[in-house]
Formats: sequence, structure tokens, C-alpha cells
Amino acid sequence: MILKPDTIINKHIGHIITKIEENGFKIVGLKLIRMSRKDAEKFYEVHKERPFYNDLCNYMSSGPVIVGVLEAENAVQKWRDLIGATDPKEAKEGTIRKLYATNKEANAVHGSDSVENAKKEISYFFSERELSSD
Ligand code: GDP
Ligand code: MG
Repeated sequence: MILKPDTIINKHIGHIITKIEENGFKIVGLKLIRMSRKDAEKFYEVHKERPFYNDLCNYMSSGPVIVGVLEAENAVQKWRDLIGATDPKEAKEGTIRKLYATNKEANAVHGSDSVENAKKEISYFFSERELSSD
């Protein structure tokens, strides 16, 4: 998962971490980083043909983000259910994006879309010694 720049600016880090803990995820990795424009381009490479790619890369490298690794049964789907739809206007009541997102781009959090991509994204940001799963 990633807490996006709007989460840091709007001081929602604590609220979102509380949601994560209350919903039974184990945090096995967590750190604040600043993505370069190149980092963001690489991270979102799958979207490079989409019209919002350029704006998205600018946005994700505009300020610090918090990257994290969450462990749970069926974690990918469980996290996507908790964060809600991409556009906060369409997100269900009580979801993180409904509660904390600014708009469709600055939508508070990132979630991996598959186990395969989660593994790639984790290895993009974390070394083995930064992860504590036992
Ligand atoms: P997600 O899996 O729900 O995060 O959504 P996507 O994988 O489709 O898009 C990746 C990210 O790009 C989203 O989380 C948004 O930050 C951004 N994004 C998606 N759709 C749009 C759009 O239509 N306009 C803009 N400006 N940003 C978008
Ligand atoms: Mg996605």
C-alpha cells in the first residue's frame, strides 16, 4: 500500500493507520520516502498509455509518500474493499477513500490489484531486512 501525498499534506496518516490496525492487517513494512519522477514513472508503467499517466506521475512525485506492506488473509482483496473505489465520489461509505480522498487522482491511498503485482511492488520499495513477517 501507499499513503499518497494528499494523505501526508492533510494529516490523515494516523487515521488511516488506525483503520489498518482496526481491520486486522498486520503491518510488516512501513517507511516514508520521496519518489523521484522516474520512480513514479516506473511504478505506474502499466498505466503509461492512459490519459492521466503524466499527471499521476507528477502528483506521486510531488511530495513524500508512505509505502507499506500489509499482511492478512486474502490481503489484496481485503485492502481494496477497505479503500473503496478509485473515485471517492463512487466509494462506499466508511471506506478510506470516501473518508479521506481529495479527488480521483489525489485519492489518499494505493492498493495493489493482484497478488502478482503486490509482490513486484513490494520488491520495488523494500529490501528483505525491512520486512518483518513471521
Ligand atoms: P486504483 O487501482 O483504484 O488506484 O486505480 P487505477 O489503477 O485505475 O489508477 C491508478 C491511479 O491513477 C488512481 O489511484 C488515481 O490516483 C489515478 N487515476 C485513475 N483514474 C484517473 C483519472 O481518470 N484521472 C486522474 N487525474 N487520475 C486518475
Ligand atoms: Mg490500480
